[in-house]
Amino acid sequence: MKNIVILVMIMAFIVGCSCPENKNNIDAPNIDTATINMVTTSLLENSESVDTALIDKGVNHAASLWRNSDGTKEEFISFCKENFFIPKEEKAQVFSKLEQYFETLNGNFAQIGVGLNNNLALNNGPLHDIDKMFGAYSAGAHLANDLYNNKIAFIVALNFPYYSLTEKEELGLNWTNEEWAWARMGDKFDSRVPAQLGQKFGQVNTDADIYISDYNIYMGSLINSNGETMFPDDMVLLTHWNLRDEIKSNYADTENGLAKQDMVYSVMKRIIDQTIPTSVINSGELKWNPVANKVSDANGDVSFEMEGDDRYQQIINSFHALQAMDEFNPVLNTYIERNFSGDMEIAQPEVEALFHELLSSVQVKKVGALIKQRLGRDLKPYDIWYDGFKSRSSISADLLNEKTTSKYPNAKAFEVDMQNMLVDLGWENERAEFLSSRIKVEAARGSGHALGAEMKDMYSYLRTRLPETGMNYKGYNIAVHEFGHNVEQTISMHDVPYYSMNGIPNTAFTEALAFIFQSRDLQLLGIKDNNPDKIYLKTIDTFWSIYEIMGVSMVDMNLWKWLYENPNATALELKVAAIDIAKDVWNSYYAPVFGTSDEPILAIYSHMIAYPLYLSAYSFGHLINFQIEQYISGKDFANEVERMYSIGRLTPQAWMQKAVGAKISNEPILTATQAAVEYFGVK
Ligand SMILES: [Zn+2]
Repeated sequence: MKNIVILVMIMAFIVGCSCPENKNNIDAPNIDTATINMVTTSLLENSESVDTALIDKGVNHAASLWRNSDGTKEEFISFCKENFFIPKEEKAQVFSKLEQYFETLNGNFAQIGVGLNNNLALNNGPLHDIDKMFGAYSAGAHLANDLYNNKIAFIVALNFPYYSLTEKEELGLNWTNEEWAWARMGDKFDSRVPAQLGQKFGQVNTDADIYISDYNIYMGSLINSNGETMFPDDMVLLTHWNLRDEIKSNYADTENGLAKQDMVYSVMKRIIDQTIPTSVINSGELKWNPVANKVSDANGDVSFEMEGDDRYQQIINSFHALQAMDEFNPVLNTYIERNFSGDMEIAQPEVEALFHELLSSVQVKKVGALIKQRLGRDLKPYDIWYDGFKSRSSISADLLNEKTTSKYPNAKAFEVDMQNMLVDLGWENERAEFLSSRIKVEAARGSGHALGAEMKDMYSYLRTRLPETGMNYKGYNIAVHEFGHNVEQTISMHDVPYYSMNGIPNTAFTEALAFIFQSRDLQLLGIKDNNPDKIYLKTIDTFWSIYEIMGVSMVDMNLWKWLYENPNATALELKVAAIDIAKDVWNSYYAPVFGTSDEPILAIYSHMIAYPLYLSAYSFGHLINFQIEQYISGKDFANEVERMYSIGRLTPQAWMQKAVGAKISNEPILTATQAAVEYFGVK
């Protein structure tokens, strides 16, 4: 959830700008190589103590951001001469002032955002339009532009230049914390994309989001070849999340489960190839047989229109909006580069190689054989969502609900108990008191989430569903997950070496701690779960989820590579390509395990439509979580959590090397899965 919140915040930031000089024509860069050389030569003449490479980098970076509206070449030259800080002490003084200014700006804008969104986020009674209007208002939307206009951005760019991911990985090995902090300052102004391009993407992305969040299938209107319905009349499922979860839940139905799963998969295939009748999307008025693709009413078959290419048009629109930004990104000049090397900070080829390794491991075949054995039938394509490894707790749901509702009748009760929970997990009392004092617990209107602080003088917020009757077990389980996020947010704000390094490398790292907390929820209730299979089941369950999501991510990445190779493609051409790509990935990595080829199932994910290239982050979340959990096992839990999350925001690989002594790797999960399948008798 946090990821989506961040995405929305970033978009609000990009979208909000409508600066007069950018409205009609794009403001062009105007600093040429000769001017850059003139500046660097002159700066070098003035000092012998400064690293030539650093001057070169700073001036080049500032020049790449300078536009006609910022001034003439001559003005650029004198700006650089006046604002380049040569003595190291002076530069360090300026740096620490910048840190304080940025903490003030980021922190207070974030605090305003919290205040303006309170009624939307919290269970505060009826909503009015005014709540949505304030919620959508972003007070900091013009900040980046203001910082270019008043030239602060150029002072930062000139003195604290941007380092690419490759440079960070190579040079960073020997960097001090101060050098990392300076490099992070350099990330603040890495590109200058005209506001109207950000607005355009915001618009197409909102459209894509509406498209996927308003695409429901009325399950009670689905019929099989005998005209029978198999699902409850009032069951309405959102694509693809609810459809997938319906497949998962039917593993427990030994009577009709398989037929229902088959039917859900038929629906998915109609969505993927867009032969789905438009009259059955968001409507249950007509009966639909998805296998034969026939629509009928009380009088018999009726004609219909197929959806066509709408699904793929959304992706084409996102592609064009994001591709338009390429030329304004001097280093990361494709969206693929910006997503991976920029946001995730792991290069795309590295991601692909890691996924390829796990997807082609011998373990996938072994787990596949185990599932086949447990199901007593050949595998079906949708068994990528096989749900039978979840270890069912031996404690009844009623008992758990009773325990949590009486322990936590309201948000305050959970807030008060956080200190005890941390002590239970191994924290010293005083430190537990500090950490819990920085977290406010509130009853959420929607789903649970954790909102981190952006300055030390700000709380982080834990929000969870809280019915009048008290916190039920499901709400508690989510609250413990969010609590893990809040603990990470507090340590990585207060205990990192510099403000510029606050946080963690990317969202996968906070999810890791959230899941580590969540998996200790019964322990925190004082309950012991004595199922001896539990650890093995959990390992295989995680492994199978990784196998599934890495395949889906492969489709997503290949789709974007194809788009860059075919920039003028139509939605119809993209549809054909997407289905081919999904089948290719299936045939390479799944056909050998499932025994069937040419299945398009991996193309069903809605993320591909509205969160372009986001899917890979989930795989990293799983891997990092597993690696950290395994490393912590047997060690002092609280000490290790404190040590890791106070490292600060290095690159993911540099952080992992410091945290667990190894890069992000498949090896721990592969080894553990091997042991688990052997435990269950598969050699
Ligand atoms: Zn989370």
